[in-house]
Amino acid sequence: MDTRPETAAPSGEMDRIDDGLFDIDSGHTRRRTFAIISHPDAGKTTLTEKLLFESGAIRLAGQVKERGERRRTRSDWMDIEQKRGISITSSVMTFEYDGLVLNLLDTPGHADFSEDTYRTLTAVDSAIMVIDAAKGIEAQTRKLFEVCRLRDIPIITFVNKIDREGRDPLEILDEIMSALALDVAPVTWPMGMGTDFRGIVTLNEDGPVTLTRNTKARSEHPGLQDFIDDEKLRADPVFGPSIEGLEIARMSLPAFDLDSYREGHMTPVIFGSAMREVGVRDLLEAICRFAPSPLPQPALPKPIPPAMPEVTGFVLKVQANMDPNHRDRIAFVRLTSGVFKRGMKLRNVRTGKDMKVTSPMFFFARDRAIADEAVAGDIVGIPNHGTLSVGDTLTETSNYTVTGIPSFAPELIRRVRLPDSMKTKQLAKALNDLAEEGVVQVFRPVIGSAWLVGVVGALQLEVLVSRLQSEYGVEVALEMSAFDTARWVDADDPAELDRFVKANQGDLAKDRGDRPVFLARNSWELSYAQKNYPNVVFSTTKERA
Ligand code: GDP
Repeated sequence: MDTRPETAAPSGEMDRIDDGLFDIDSGHTRRRTFAIISHPDAGKTTLTEKLLFESGAIRLAGQVKERGERRRTRSDWMDIEQKRGISITSSVMTFEYDGLVLNLLDTPGHADFSEDTYRTLTAVDSAIMVIDAAKGIEAQTRKLFEVCRLRDIPIITFVNKIDREGRDPLEILDEIMSALALDVAPVTWPMGMGTDFRGIVTLNEDGPVTLTRNTKARSEHPGLQDFIDDEKLRADPVFGPSIEGLEIARMSLPAFDLDSYREGHMTPVIFGSAMREVGVRDLLEAICRFAPSPLPQPALPKPIPPAMPEVTGFVLKVQANMDPNHRDRIAFVRLTSGVFKRGMKLRNVRTGKDMKVTSPMFFFARDRAIADEAVAGDIVGIPNHGTLSVGDTLTETSNYTVTGIPSFAPELIRRVRLPDSMKTKQLAKALNDLAEEGVVQVFRPVIGSAWLVGVVGALQLEVLVSRLQSEYGVEVALEMSAFDTARWVDADDPAELDRFVKANQGDLAKDRGDRPVFLARNSWELSYAQKNYPNVVFSTTKERA
């Protein structure tokens, strides 16, 4: 039975609210743009590969032999990343399933919170949360979940590694409910776990159900009740207790409710094993049936409905030097409305400049291709020479400005020491490039000449040093700075801001957009300044406009 809604309810409603003009389906209702959130090692990479495999986007001939190559073809293009076996930069993979176009955005998997991850999550309409069945909700999962919750992003949960000894399924559901305050609705149920694993049952209430043990062993049963009432199964030492657990879940949990999921209150839960390809198809089907198509994009002067005819989009990420042999720079643009066509002229609202987009790209599992046409929800890569920055809005003619893509007050501030003064120019260019990519924030102190760099997580500093060296040939040392934190400062009254700026020259810097930033040595100094200047606003985030 196809329970897939014809058009996504939330975006459809929004279109009508807007002004009733936009009920054209440009193809965006066939898009599902999502990310996977998880703690390192939960199985995100394996699941990604299996999703691509199951959908036919990649073929695995000899899995083990191909593994090394497959890993390289993903976003693992950086040295540091390969050494650590983590994926630091996000990338996008587009594939098709069941007549829909799925855009999977990769979020960095390391435990260090990065702005990049946050921004990726501002560009998706839903997320898959992968949990290790033995470990439950881990720190990074919870952090990423909180980011999703800020925007009420709907989440489908995949409880992975049920082929290993894990926690009792009821206990896992309980943890999701209590730790994340989400209602749960299991979509599959495991029969045994670890060495006793006998397969997962699809919890289809009105039709035949399948018991899947691995890609080859599948059996059909006429219905769920029939399966539960099967005397022979109930007498089995593994199936018996599992069926009892399933009955408890069925009695005590609410039925799946699409609206509740779409509003971010309920998560469908799939028990499975990425490695054994169990539950992967159920996950794909859940994405197709439940996950929303592109939602209206928060913007000024008003939200952008995905069915609006004019093309709009925003830059969620800039990646430089993707291919070390070519100094290319690619801006990943999430389209938010209209039908984009290759060769189109788009305006960067920030600079007011138009650019002709001649070679936009789609990214697939293994390669890229020219994008001739794209719609809301799609991510296109636009090669450029530094004209596009993270957060930029692109439109055909109008002046919409996409909102909600923040940059964070840095928690670590370092002074950049350059031993070789002949490289001053290269350093300035490199820092500018990397700041544009969002790798670090760069500040220029009002007094003094050394650059200051600010990051949210310590790993970003390592990435900075490594990339300065490998991509720009600039060796730097990062030194402790006197400063502990930074705040963007502003005031309604320009005279008041001016007074503050003049009185605090020694503690002020400019960001790349020339906005004043107050640097504080400690929290005491910050609150002292706030007390003395009650009309100055000190912000921890700067919305990019
Ligand atoms: P990531 O760090 O979240 O990307 O995790 P990986 O996909 O790299 O997986 C971490 C480890 O768990 C690897 O050794 C995988 O082979 C293993 N793994 C992933 N999925 C499963 C699974 O379903 N069952 C078992 N037993 N191991 C798995």
